[in-house]
Amino acid sequence: MFAEVAFPISNFKTFTYAIPRDLSKKIHIGSRVKAPLGKRKLIGIIVNILETPPYKGETKSIEDIIDDFQVVTPELWKLISWISNYYMTPLGQVAKTVLPNNLSTRYKPLKILFVESILSEKKTNIELLKKRAPKQYEILNKIQLSKSPLKVSSLTEYSSNPSQICKILSGKKLVRLFEKESIPSSSAFSFDPVDKKIIFNQDQERVSKSLKQSLENEVYMPFLLHGVTGSGKTEIYIEAVRYCLKQGRTAIILLPEISLTPQISGRFKSVFGDTIALWHSKLTQRQRSWTWKEICKGSYKVIIGARSAVFSPLKKLGLVVIDEEQEASFRQDSPMPRYHARDVALMRAKFNNAVIVLASATPSLESYYNYLNEKLNYLYLPNRYGDAKYPVVHLVDMLEEQNDTGKFGQIISGLLQDKIEERLNNKEQIIILQNRRGFSPVIRCGDCGQIIICPYCNVSISYHIKTDNLLCHFCGHSKVKLDQNCSDCNSKNLHYSGTGTQKVEILLRDTFPKASIQRLDMDTSLSGRNITNILKAFNNGEIDILLGTQMIAKGLDFPNATLVGIINADQGLYLPDFRSGERIFQLIYQASGRSGRRNKQGEVVIQTYSSENPVIKSASMLDMKKYYEIALKEREELDYPPYSWLAKIEITGSNQENTSLLAINIAQAINGDYTGLSILGPVPCYIEKLRNNYRFQIIFKSVKTLDPNGKKLHSFINRNFNHISQKHQIGKARIKIHFDPLSLI
Ligand SMILES: [Zn+2]
Ligand SMILES: [Zn+2]
Repeated sequence: MFAEVAFPISNFKTFTYAIPRDLSKKIHIGSRVKAPLGKRKLIGIIVNILETPPYKGETKSIEDIIDDFQVVTPELWKLISWISNYYMTPLGQVAKTVLPNNLSTRYKPLKILFVESILSEKKTNIELLKKRAPKQYEILNKIQLSKSPLKVSSLTEYSSNPSQICKILSGKKLVRLFEKESIPSSSAFSFDPVDKKIIFNQDQERVSKSLKQSLENEVYMPFLLHGVTGSGKTEIYIEAVRYCLKQGRTAIILLPEISLTPQISGRFKSVFGDTIALWHSKLTQRQRSWTWKEICKGSYKVIIGARSAVFSPLKKLGLVVIDEEQEASFRQDSPMPRYHARDVALMRAKFNNAVIVLASATPSLESYYNYLNEKLNYLYLPNRYGDAKYPVVHLVDMLEEQNDTGKFGQIISGLLQDKIEERLNNKEQIIILQNRRGFSPVIRCGDCGQIIICPYCNVSISYHIKTDNLLCHFCGHSKVKLDQNCSDCNSKNLHYSGTGTQKVEILLRDTFPKASIQRLDMDTSLSGRNITNILKAFNNGEIDILLGTQMIAKGLDFPNATLVGIINADQGLYLPDFRSGERIFQLIYQASGRSGRRNKQGEVVIQTYSSENPVIKSASMLDMKKYYEIALKEREELDYPPYSWLAKIEITGSNQENTSLLAINIAQAINGDYTGLSILGPVPCYIEKLRNNYRFQIIFKSVKTLDPNGKKLHSFINRNFNHISQKHQIGKARIKIHFDPLSLI
């Protein structure tokens, strides 16, 4: 027997090896093996098993097998091959991204001590306890009141050493203690499980019924679940997962970022308990391997995670849910493969005959278009759950405000200030969005007007007041403020303008000295645990004002938050990217949706300098359908997605002239274009220089009317670039191929 093996090298070739007799029973497609390649020994993955070698002559042998069990299901293997093909990435590289590094590493999951009550008749003993050992009595009472076993560590409010007391109680045969292995780091990213009884409203009932019917059929069925903010989508997911598990199948829930959605994980945990595993980038290598193996063994039936959870090796997958499907974080741009988890998930569902639900209050224009064109089945939740009403939105024209007050560059309008004060007096909570971190994002020379830019990237550098340094948000280059001169005239007279979260924070603290204010952005919360803690504190009412970047805008449900303020709605609106309008609309709409989630009337204050802009206008009316109509029309006129297929070739290198020349040469060598294809460029990218590399791009647009499934564009790019990309990756300039890029800047 022979095996074709793919290696994680930048080469599409596979290599054939003989399978030693003693290994032949253990080897499957998808197994990883060690084999000689040139002078090295590399770990590769088996992509095919053959009876006879494809050519005559001597064949080298596989040396060893890495995984002694099947690490990918046949459907998952099909998916890996599809990714390799669609995103033009060597099979070995895709496999390397999908599989944990080394599945043979040892990892011992933490054991957690639980306690549960034992039914006992000895009331007298308990009464005795009340007098003699009140602490024991209190804890016992708590345990007896709980329907399910409790974590011993959760009893610290009664005693500093609850395990000691539980042991005594266990000695008296009043409780039972036991240990359970915990899923790696799952609690760091979820709120404590919330147990609640949900009664579906009519809309939820209808949507849930459709999903169950489709699950029943066990065929591929893609849905767009469009539910306004606060319409109870999570409960729909839960109901569908419950049904799917009952069928003996499994489910994947994809979330944009696991640490920002602790409420959903917490809710799932309360319903499904130990059948859930979390899969995300914060797991260590060992935890990843362990979790992967457990999933292969069938220990988990539901996987919740960020984009890479789409690759979980679940068997009998029946359901995939993608929450906030419009989110850019589902796209991976580096390293290869450059894939979109939503599109990969659609393929995975297809290969598994599964139901897939793309869910959002603000779907991506692609998905919305696919629903209009009947490629996605549409499910609509038009109403907020329970008695919750839509928030009242106030649009503040900051130019008018300026004229009225005579104050220029005001950050918080009079109206927003009044509303904040009102909320603070009512003991209600406030969310303030400013989608830019740091103190001041633009530093300008007072003498010559030059803007200070990062020496490695062609972007303005930001001032961070907490650390008193200048920081590039793209490459992380940082410099002490005192050392900075104007790069043009060497002047020290620098003006710090523009508004970042830190500036807003200081202003809020000055204006509302008694309020408890917390900022949440990349600077305050590098670790996921930190984020969860801040969100928990806000949920518990320990924080009055939560201020942050887009991190606070989505998926969160705080019943007492009744005011959302958007400091500068225009942030990013004028970026030269076909998607910038869509992004800003979604951000404003979603942020507004945080306000007034229960019976309290919510309000939103949107501050803008562009009150007539259609994005801002329709966002302030919370009119999604109207804006999507406008946006789709624009895209159609300009042949942008979803009306075309897009590919981008990015050429980067450290020498500007050589890179530019290479881009020109590549463009000239392109041949075989067809009707419906337009080629734009080469041009320097909007951010011309990034991390000391110059960037050029060539854009390819293939209109869907002439290329309905994108095959023409794919084979065109394949023909032209397959070889080019290999040749130049080795040299100093690199060529990256992006299919369906999210951004062109
Ligand atoms: Zn200057
Ligand atoms: Zn930089």
